[in-house]
Amino acid sequence: MSGRSSAQKTHEKQTKKPRDGYQRRLQMANIGFIGLGNMGGPMAANLVKAGHMVKVFDLSDDAVANAVEGGAHKAASVGAAAADVDFVVTVLPAGKHVLAVYDGLDGVIAHAKPGTVLIDSSTIDVDSARKASELAKAAGLGVVDAPISGGTAGAAAGTLTFMVGGADADFASAEPILAAMGSNIVHAGDSGAGQAAKICNNMVLGVSMIAVSEAFMLAKRLGLDAQKLFEVSSKASGQCWALTSYCPVPGPVPTSPANRDYQPGFAVDMMLKDLKLAQQASAESGATTPMGALAESLYALYSNGGNGDMDFSAIVKMLDGEK
Ligand code: NAD
Repeated sequence: MSGRSSAQKTHEKQTKKPRDGYQRRLQMANIGFIGLGNMGGPMAANLVKAGHMVKVFDLSDDAVANAVEGGAHKAASVGAAAADVDFVVTVLPAGKHVLAVYDGLDGVIAHAKPGTVLIDSSTIDVDSARKASELAKAAGLGVVDAPISGGTAGAAAGTLTFMVGGADADFASAEPILAAMGSNIVHAGDSGAGQAAKICNNMVLGVSMIAVSEAFMLAKRLGLDAQKLFEVSSKASGQCWALTSYCPVPGPVPTSPANRDYQPGFAVDMMLKDLKLAQQASAESGATTPMGALAESLYALYSNGGNGDMDFSAIVKMLDGEK
């Protein structure tokens, strides 16, 4: 524990946020928000808390009701959420949902006024991200792909990492809005670069979680105590996030899902989706990613065993021989 007060922590987070002009504009933005699930719900709540006018739409009435209770305004449709706002944020499951919400008669693009900036924070394939961006640009709209990392805890705390793809001007417009939901905002490049960064990062995470899990299971067979392996590897060349922040066995990292029967956190099926996106991009771009391919197969196997809703660190149980 650091011993810092919550007031100190809040101050530190604010000092990392963009400059004064951005803060002024933060008070004034009208935002449409579509997709109020595990991530989008708390993200929209943070925009409301930052002083924005937020119009929300989701297929789930309960999700909309929760957001309205927190101070958001209900929009009757996708088009209504996108009309007459400065920004439209989407946090949806996959590329087909984003394209469906952007395109069509009641879509975002048909209703957004020229100059509106579209921010898509879903994790989707790079091709769909680029297609969404082309549709938006052709209609005179700004657009960035801005996928997120940090999980539901980061979404609630407003400490997400955003990996952003898009033109400089669109990034500059979107940055103050992202700063109300996250603490680390990286302009990764042009359209699609945010999604590329996201799937590369999560491929590292999927592979490293399996590697760490294998090491703990080997240690178990060798009679080496898990805590001792942690004490060595967390300070040695095996150190990585999957070990030190998200240790897959109970004990060494009290906050990791291993200590709460592997409830997510970040579900197996979410990790599988991201590994599939990485393999799809790998095949299309001609990259060589054999460890990513193996990680995808192992997570598919574990998901097919009925474990899709478990936290992804639970794959250690499969490696231990559990069904
Ligand atoms: P979720 O399933 O909880 O939420 C998705 C929401 O989108 C739901 O409320 C659903 O009703 C809504 N929706 C779907 N189609 C819609 C439509 N046509 N119109 C309006 N609403 C629609 O998913 P989530 O966990 O919030 O994840 C959202 C995105 O964020 C995904 O792309 C995921 O990969 C990514 N992500 C999730 C996490 C995580 O830890 N959960 C972390 C990083 C990134």
